[in-house]
Amino acid sequence: MSISSRTLPGIGARIRQALLAQDCFLCQSASGDRLLCEACERELPSSASACPRCAAAGTGNEECGACLADPPHYDASRAAFSYAYPVDVLIQALKYGGQLALAPWFAHKLQQRIGPAPGVDLIVPLPLHPARLAERGFNQAAEIAKALSRASGIRMDAHMAQRARNTAPQTDLPWRERAANIRNAFSCGHGLAGLRVAVVDDVMTTGATLNEFARTLKKAGAAKVENWVVARTPPGV
Ligand SMILES: [Zn+2]
Ligand SMILES: [Zn+2]
Repeated sequence: MSISSRTLPGIGARIRQALLAQDCFLCQSASGDRLLCEACERELPSSASACPRCAAAGTGNEECGACLADPPHYDASRAAFSYAYPVDVLIQALKYGGQLALAPWFAHKLQQRIGPAPGVDLIVPLPLHPARLAERGFNQAAEIAKALSRASGIRMDAHMAQRARNTAPQTDLPWRERAANIRNAFSCGHGLAGLRVAVVDDVMTTGATLNEFARTLKKAGAAKVENWVVARTPPGV
């Protein structure tokens, strides 16, 4: 074996590493070509057991009392993470800091959570009102959905549903007012007859917004609506 054939692959690997090398987004230690270092990745909060319908944590994978008592319009929900540090920081960095590079990372984590055969025909991001979209410049849910569609091969349509009303931010309202605030906020012109739809969003809190959106999609004919969210708030938050 010549010297060059022994050393070239090593050089190639080193160049690749140098090109891709970055610091961990959270702790700034070296993380190679990954967004987070291994230590930070291990600490990411997720729930081992959750309600299959609303993704509320700690139900031993049984449907929770709230879903049994008042079944939501969506059929299932899956969350990659619990909404706690440092996932909250990462989501805020995407949403308010414009760190769009986080979108494919979130999509990758969601895909790992969902698995290879999710039984879904169409991915739809939760729409932002055009005024909010103009203000922010992008819809974080659409950015994640786009990356997820590319990675999974499942078709995405970001235009089939609209946010017709610019509602007050749900986070500014007490829980009991959230369902009324969001009522009739969406419209969906296209027929969804028989389609299984996955709705992508960043954070699921009470589920009131996603529930109203699922109601709209079912009215347009969707056979099944699932929520795929990056993070679910832990109970009592
Ligand atoms: Zn780190
Ligand atoms: Zn539930």
